Amino acid sequence: MLLQADHLKKQYTAQDGSTVDALRDVSIELVAGEFVAVQGPSGCGKSTLLLTIGALLEPTAGCLNIDGENPYALSPEARARFRAMNIGFVFQQFHLVPYLDVRDNILVPSLAGESNASLDRVDELLEQFNLAERAAHPPAQLSTGERQRTAFARALLNKPRIVLADEPTGNLDRENAEIVIAHLRQFARDDGAVLLVTHDSYAADQADRSLQI
Ligand code: ADP
Repeated sequence: MLLQADHLKKQYTAQDGSTVDALRDVSIELVAGEFVAVQGPSGCGKSTLLLTIGALLEPTAGCLNIDGENPYALSPEARARFRAMNIGFVFQQFHLVPYLDVRDNILVPSLAGESNASLDRVDELLEQFNLAERAAHPPAQLSTGERQRTAFARALLNKPRIVLADEPTGNLDRENAEIVIAHLRQFARDDGAVLLVTHDSYAADQADRSLQI
């Protein structure tokens, strides 16, 4: 099992002391090679689930195991390193650095000291995502599809085992959405696993299975 989440619960406490049950009891299992969509109405806890599985937000209760490791049992430093090496994030907003070109945006995880990636790895990603001719351009000069492909390439710099994608096609036209979904599918096929949160029925239909929360 590449990812096993058992009975995850997350309760937020607001400043006035009131509480919100964002995740009530969610269990998910992913094996290598799987591409799974998560769907549900706004506010049902999809983003909370991705952050929790992504080792960014400790659940109030429940167990998480990623490739044999419980990230919440690690020290904060070890957990950050574990996250950087094993989990790639792709968001609806691309979160690129505006003053860096495409090549350096892909290298951002290594600027943070959390990568052993070689420059060859960046060339490989530029080819894989059809960005080689855009390598020296800043995000403002890219199409939205190119921006999302740059963000996706950055997520894969360290060859993670799992990609967590939060509405990655939300800002894309159909043609570019299809390209991004094809990359997600290929990542899963190459022995990874993908968890995709989406409202886009086209994107959800491309997954191997779909979970409702
Ligand atoms: P979704 O991604 O499905 O729209 P979220 O995970 O963003 O859902 O939110 C689930 C619930 O938790 C919502 O009711 C939201 O208002 C609440 N929530 C999210 N983040 C916080 C927070 N930091 N503090 C308090 N409540 C939050």
